[in-house]
Amino acid sequence: MNRVEVRNLQVSYGNKTVLAVEHASFERGRFYGIVGPSGAGKSTLLRVINLLEKPASGSLQLFGDETDLTSLSYSKGLPLQRKMGFVAQKPSMFHASVYENVSLGLRYRKREKAEIQMLVQEALDLVELSHLADQRANTLSGGEAQRIALARALVIKPKLLLLDEPTASLDPYNISIFERVIQTFHRQTNTTVLMITHNLPQARRLAQTCLFVNKGRIVEWADTDAFFNRP
Ligand code: ADP
Ligand code: ADP
Repeated sequence: MNRVEVRNLQVSYGNKTVLAVEHASFERGRFYGIVGPSGAGKSTLLRVINLLEKPASGSLQLFGDETDLTSLSYSKGLPLQRKMGFVAQKPSMFHASVYENVSLGLRYRKREKAEIQMLVQEALDLVELSHLADQRANTLSGGEAQRIALARALVIKPKLLLLDEPTASLDPYNISIFERVIQTFHRQTNTTVLMITHNLPQARRLAQTCLFVNKGRIVEWADTDAFFNRP
């Protein structure tokens, strides 16, 4: 089974419980939109799934395998993390060329040079920025940088794509390119996508299922078509 599943999850900071999910199960290949007010626990949910946050309790199944969260070490988490692509609201790039930023994940994974070149080219073409390959990442506009961050997440062909308000600071032109790229990628690869967004029309455009999170709980799951078109 290739689903991603969390059970009895509890994340606390100090004595404050910020996330308590009884059960959430994400089917392979489905595009999920995660919406809800600020502070609801949406980022925390993605950070737990991405193994960046250790919950106080609960279990997590990633790609069908049970992940023992209590004994999770860096070395056990790394191979799982490497199956996930993550794009946050603000791109963080290191000071090097666009090409080096996009290829880094593949170099970590010890891919052949020729394969790396081919995959990076493909990813840059996908986000329509192949002409910027040799440019330094710190000279990009905000919209370009975010599209490069997307290329960097997609180049590894993740099994799970995690997006945390990825278009919140983009202009409409870059939003439309960004949306088209993730939609095309999702259709072609059948990757599971979890996308946090404050933009309901965007959730409606992209997501197949919407989760509504409030006060640390998933309060509703809805099939997007049924939800937005209901009488
Ligand atoms: P409804 O649309 O009436 O909520 P669903 O079949 O969508 O019916 O959901 C039934 C219950 O299962 C609800 O409590 C919902 O929160 C939960 N649920 C729905 N989808 C999922 C899912 N993918 N993973 C875990 N729980 C879910
Ligand atoms: P959302 O993504 O829905 O805006 P978050 O998951 O970022 O919500 O945050 C949920 C709650 O957890 C908020 O009240 C936030 O202040 C709190 N929180 C998040 N990260 C930390 C942290 N590192 N330390 C303390 N509180 C945190």
